[in-house]
Amino acid sequence: MEKFKKVIDIDTENLQATVEPGVITQEFMDAVGELGLRYPVDPSSKGSCFIGGNVAHGSGGPRVVKYGTIREYILNLEVVLPDGQVIWTGANTLKYASGYNLTQLMIGSEGTLGVVTKIVTKLIPVIGHSVLMLASFTENEAACAAVSAIFRAGMTPSALEFMERQGVEWVIKYDDIQFDLKDNVNAFLMLEFDGDDMDTIFKDCEKANSVLEAQGCVEVLFADTAAQKEELWKMRRVMAESVKSNSVYKEEDTVVPRAALPKLISGIKEIGAKYGFESVCYGHAGDGNLHVNIIKAGMSDEDWKNKLKFGITEIFELTAALGGTISGEHGIGLVQKEFMPLKYAEINLYLMRGIKQVFDPNGILNPGKIF
Ligand SMILES: Cc1cc2nc3c(=O)[nH]c(=O)nc-3n(C[C@H](O)[C@H](O)[C@H](O)COP(=O)(O)OP(=O)(O)OC[C@H]3O[C@@H](n4cnc5c(N)ncnc54)[C@H](O)[C@@H]3O)c2cc1C
Repeated sequence: MEKFKKVIDIDTENLQATVEPGVITQEFMDAVGELGLRYPVDPSSKGSCFIGGNVAHGSGGPRVVKYGTIREYILNLEVVLPDGQVIWTGANTLKYASGYNLTQLMIGSEGTLGVVTKIVTKLIPVIGHSVLMLASFTENEAACAAVSAIFRAGMTPSALEFMERQGVEWVIKYDDIQFDLKDNVNAFLMLEFDGDDMDTIFKDCEKANSVLEAQGCVEVLFADTAAQKEELWKMRRVMAESVKSNSVYKEEDTVVPRAALPKLISGIKEIGAKYGFESVCYGHAGDGNLHVNIIKAGMSDEDWKNKLKFGITEIFELTAALGGTISGEHGIGLVQKEFMPLKYAEINLYLMRGIKQVFDPNGILNPGKIF
């Protein structure tokens, strides 16, 4: 899709844009930003991923917690079907109650149903201000428990990210970031509040501070200048690369209802201890979405090859038992498909296969992906 790289139209009256799938997500954000508009779906990979890939994955990112995933922004799609017919999936409208919603079916279908060639997105006005807070905790579970407490107290941060100490240590080493990492700190929450009125933002920050203290937070740092905010965001954004540059790894993308996060993280550590692997967890905690990076560390090559999958199976069983699912935003593709039956009954998979059969009877689009 390399040649599909035009932002076709930015409709400032309807707050919509039509874009081709080969546009890099950040470049699309910049193009609408120049007109005072915002496309808020910002996966951490936004500097390199394509908006077509984002549609195909049902992508999210740090701002989902307030603004929603790409599912909330895609209004209509032009799709080439496997037999060469070109269709529009819906309408360029904010509501849709006209039969099955093929637009939503396409989102997250990982290229198995059709090739997306045009994308109509909703836009929102640019938001004026934001403040970023970094809260440190002695325990992972306390940090995770604070996540649902923030929402229960009536706040909606525009980002709420979790990072484990080991991830921060590796980021500092990987990207030469200046950060004073205290000995007694093992977990961090990064909270962003945004809006057009600084007084309201500061009130939210004060309220969040009280909730975090009540949840056992050790210290809260505030970043309100652009440079301070960028430094903290960079720490979170490069975490995936820094963890991966340190060790052989396998990344899982668990998601649970957010109040179940403490049980998820302690369960992951217990499963790691049972199978002999370490893990570094971070992610979009406000959405209950935890990226679990399983680190080979002292595990033998043989155990890594033969035993690891039992550990992963247990992680996914735990995720499902807590009311979650096996991927929040990274998708299934080839590597996760063996775990689909852990989450879905045979009847669910039968229905999914049936949809695939209707769209692509000859199985020529991304064969073997998802199931
Ligand atoms: C460092 C890092 C951070 C990340 N952070 C996030 C995050 O915060 N949130 C998140 O959601 N994801 C994240 N991801 C995962 C990934 O970047 C995103 O899911 C992204 O949406 C994938 O887009 P891509 O352009 O790289 O897609 P690709 O990997 O190129 O393609 C993904 C799938 O989509 C299909 N596809 C691509 N284009 C089309 C099209 N036009 N029509 C039909 N099918 C198509 C491909 O066949 C493939 O199966 C991250 C990844 C990395 C490496």
